[in-house]
Amino acid sequence: MHTPAGFEPALSMPAVVSAGAVAFAWRRDKLLVSGAADAPRDGPMPMLPGFATIAALGLAGTPHFLGAQDGVDCIAVNLPDNAPEPAGWHYAGLRSLFFRIPEPLLALAGRAFQIVEWDRTHRYCGRCGTPTRDKTGERAKECPACGQVAYPRVSPAMMVLVTRGRELLLARASRFPSGMYSALAGFVEPGETIEDCIRREVREEVNVEIAPPAYFASQSWAFPHSLMIAYTAEYAGGDMRPSDEEIADAQWFALDALPALPPGISIARRLIDATVARLRATGSC
Ligand SMILES: [Zn+2]
Repeated sequence: MHTPAGFEPALSMPAVVSAGAVAFAWRRDKLLVSGAADAPRDGPMPMLPGFATIAALGLAGTPHFLGAQDGVDCIAVNLPDNAPEPAGWHYAGLRSLFFRIPEPLLALAGRAFQIVEWDRTHRYCGRCGTPTRDKTGERAKECPACGQVAYPRVSPAMMVLVTRGRELLLARASRFPSGMYSALAGFVEPGETIEDCIRREVREEVNVEIAPPAYFASQSWAFPHSLMIAYTAEYAGGDMRPSDEEIADAQWFALDALPALPPGISIARRLIDATVARLRATGSC
């Protein structure tokens, strides 16, 4: 997920909200969309409510202005945990909306969720416990007692696809769906560069040393606030074996014998597909 073309971010709610403004209304980790929760996946696409519809449905929450997508105002709304579910609408997890709403809306929903989640979890100063207030001029909360400022949290994580000639190193985490393998991934620790993190995680998870990694792409991942930064790296040594309790299995896979892979919306799949295409184009099978 990335910022859609045509999106202009902004901070302050307009004095008059435009009639066509769209609401990304979150109750806990679920988004208000039209239709029934058990509607068939190939049925009508779920729609987002207009901002004016929120009040008309008897709902109320804290609004956060996101900006405008092709001139249409976009507003995140933090609904209370006990907000009712109006007839004709339901609350849906973001993952359940993959491939069901257009990708630009999905990306904006992820952005909205991260801001709403930050709003909910920074109501009090982490240093002195005083209720915080919104800071003017930037997306931040400040403590009126001690001045501590809290910004929306973004947690960098790395993903790396290790190659050895024409083989890919793919691993199964215990939490993956049955049979699925993916590239290695892990969160950056304090004091580390992305490259430090990649070398450490590869060593820790599969006991392998790598050549300097090459950048591939990054993806915002709102579960709950990651920035996934993806690389490839060529094997440089070590006797590969899963050596972290999170890793159920890891193997070198030939290009023509790949296991089940993550779905196409994930950067993991794009990384694997692009690497397979590159290796196929550069050598003889
Ligand atoms: Zn404070």
